[in-house]
Amino acid sequence: MGSHRIAAIPADGIGPEVIGAGLEVLRALERLDPGFHLDVTHFPWGSDYYRAHGVMMPEDGLDALRGFDAIYFGAVGDKNVPDHVTLWGLRLAICQGFDQFANVRPTRILPGLTSPLRDCAPGDLDWVIVRENSEGEYAGMGGRAHRGHPIEVGTEVAVFTRAGVERIIRFAFETARSRPREHLTVVTKSNAQRHGMVLWDEVAAAVARDFPDVAVDRELVDAMTVRMVNKPRSIDTVVATNLHADILSDLAAALAGSIGIAPTANLDPSRRYPSMFEPIHGSAFDIVGKGIANPVGAFWTAVMMLDHLGEHENARRLMAAIEHVTAAGIRTPDLGGTARTTDVTAAVVDALAAVPA
Ligand code: ATP
Repeated sequence: MGSHRIAAIPADGIGPEVIGAGLEVLRALERLDPGFHLDVTHFPWGSDYYRAHGVMMPEDGLDALRGFDAIYFGAVGDKNVPDHVTLWGLRLAICQGFDQFANVRPTRILPGLTSPLRDCAPGDLDWVIVRENSEGEYAGMGGRAHRGHPIEVGTEVAVFTRAGVERIIRFAFETARSRPREHLTVVTKSNAQRHGMVLWDEVAAAVARDFPDVAVDRELVDAMTVRMVNKPRSIDTVVATNLHADILSDLAAALAGSIGIAPTANLDPSRRYPSMFEPIHGSAFDIVGKGIANPVGAFWTAVMMLDHLGEHENARRLMAAIEHVTAAGIRTPDLGGTARTTDVTAAVVDALAAVPA
């Protein structure tokens, strides 16, 4: 369909391994579709860059990214650099700098994979979690006082603005409407948190009036974890705060088989800025360099990126190839298999050629 400018930021841990694999399958797609081209620029930012330059990315990093159509991101986090430095210095700097307020996390059980839930068949778990990605508990508000003294205090203030809550709830209703079941669950903790969370409930009730076709229910976040385990079929689209959805989506990925398969998109739906696509897993220090990182999360992430770029046919084709490979039992150790990253990548490249255009 066209040519797209992609900024690749593999960053830390297994990020370079899975993004390398992802770019390989995207190159295979290019070979199959002469009308499709990705112009990829690599940015060597992350913890190694921090060790060399004292910052995770250059001061004008956002300016360097601004002109791209999408950002393909690996993972951030390093054993020897504090997590808040790596996270805020790169990933959150991009998400917040580009107002990528909607974090979208689809989860389902891919063909051939099994859920750790005993009675959960593949069709029973098919969810999209929409995470508020610009404020809430990760707004960065708060501070430390009396540093180093016994009376030291640290505050972490959750910030909920009406505009911020309304835009994510509206986005979640639209997402729910685009799916066959047209069902949205609004997750909060408004029994114990009486201010910001009650604002969420009020805004959700008001926005719901504009979406009479979407069935909506509410759940407290603690009860939601129980429902995800006991009644997965009762869930379709979920919207929750930055912190709540962060936790729920890791649980969702594990229930679908492995955190190594789950993708996410950090979207600026207005398209003023580039959106960023990344697997949901982190650096996975325990397997770095072993050649066994599951690349499926990075592949599925590439599918989301292709859809965002308007490359729907190529997105469909790549997803079909991924599902063909999981169904064939070619799996890395996190899914109980013995395949290596390169085996899964080669199998997806082969499968792509077999998927009807
Ligand atoms: P973060 O806080 O950045 O999300 P984390 O340290 O909580 O990261 P991960 O780095 O995602 O978590 O790793 C959690 C576990 O899942 C580790 O045992 C890791 O090896 C495993 N894991 C994560 N991603 C993959 C993957 N792509 N393939 C195989 N195993 C993975």
